[in-house]
Amino acid sequence: MEADVELGAASPSTAMSEMDPVAYNRAVERYYDTTLDLYEELWGEHVHHGYWDPGKRPDADGADRHAATDRLVRELVDYARVPRGATVLDAGCGIGGPALYLAAALGCTVDGVTLSAPQAARANEKAEAAGLADRARFRRQDALATGCPDASFDVVWALESLMHFPDRAAFFAEAARLLRPGGVLAVGTWAVRDGTLDDQEQDLLGQILHHQVMPSFSSLAEHERLARQAGFTAVASMDWSAAVANSWDPGFAQIRQLEHGRAAMRELARDRGVDVLGFFYAGPLMQRGFQTGVMRYGAIRAVKPTTSAGRDRPA
Ligand code: SAH
Repeated sequence: MEADVELGAASPSTAMSEMDPVAYNRAVERYYDTTLDLYEELWGEHVHHGYWDPGKRPDADGADRHAATDRLVRELVDYARVPRGATVLDAGCGIGGPALYLAAALGCTVDGVTLSAPQAARANEKAEAAGLADRARFRRQDALATGCPDASFDVVWALESLMHFPDRAAFFAEAARLLRPGGVLAVGTWAVRDGTLDDQEQDLLGQILHHQVMPSFSSLAEHERLARQAGFTAVASMDWSAAVANSWDPGFAQIRQLEHGRAAMRELARDRGVDVLGFFYAGPLMQRGFQTGVMRYGAIRAVKPTTSAGRDRPA
C-alpha cells in the first residue's frame, strides 16, 4: 500500500538545533542531494537569492531570475572587494555557479566545498564544460574540516551557506585561520531582524529552519560580533533585504507551475522522501518573512588583520 503524502503539513517535527552536528550535516547533505535537479531546473546554476534594484519586479517568464542571481554574485564581489586573481575557498559551493563566475570573470582560483557529493560532481562537470577545471575544483567536504593549512587563501567566500552551519562562531574562527593576513571574508546570508522576536515570528522562523534544514538564524549584528570575536578587522555588513525579496515572488512562472503540480510533488515525496518538500514550502514562508520584516538578508565583509597591531585599521 502506498503511503499518502500530506502536502499541507508545514509544522516542524524535530528542531534542527536539537540534532548533533554529524546527524545535522547528514540532513543538509541529504537535502541538497535530493534537491539537486530541482534547484538547477528552477534556479539555474546559482543556489541563492537574486538582486534587484528597489522597485523592480521580476519578469514572469523567469528569465529575470537568472540575471538577478548573476547580479547578486557581482554585488558581493564589489561589496567585499574580492581582488582579481585571488585564491578563494568557496565554503558551501552548491553546483559552482558563483565559483565559476569568480574563476571566469576575475581569474580567481577556487577550491569549492559542499556537503553534497552530487553537487560537487555537477560543479566539476560544469567547470570542465566551461574550460575552467584548472582553476575551479569542487569536492565533498565539511567547510569546517577542509584540511587546508593556515593562510591558504586570499578570500573565504560563503554565499548562503552560513545558515546551515551549526557552529557559526567556529566558522568565523576557521575562516580567520585559513585566510592569509590581509585576506578577505565575503559572506552573503539569510538573517533575522535585531531584537526580541515575538511568538508569531518564532513560529514562522521555526518552519523555515525546519524545511530548509538550518539550525538557527542570526542577526547581521550578531554575525558582525562573531567576526570581530574571531579576530577580524574592518567588519561591516549591509542589509540587502529589499533588493533580494523578489526572489520569492510567486509571479515567477516556473515556480507557479510546480506549486500547482501537487501530483508531481506527491510523486517526488514518495520517490525521494518527504523532506524534499521543504524545497517547495520555502517560497510562501520566506515571502511572509520578508514582508513582515523578521527575515533579513545581508552581505558581510571582514578582513584578517595583517599584524595584531593593525586590528582596527580599515582595510
Ligand atoms: N554558495 C552556493 C550554494 C548555496 S546552497 C550558491 O550560492 O550557489 C548552500 C550550500 O552550502 C550547499 O552546497 C551545502 O552543501 C553547503 N553547506 C552547508 N553546510 C556546509 C558545511 N558544513 N560544509 C560545506 N558546505 C556546506
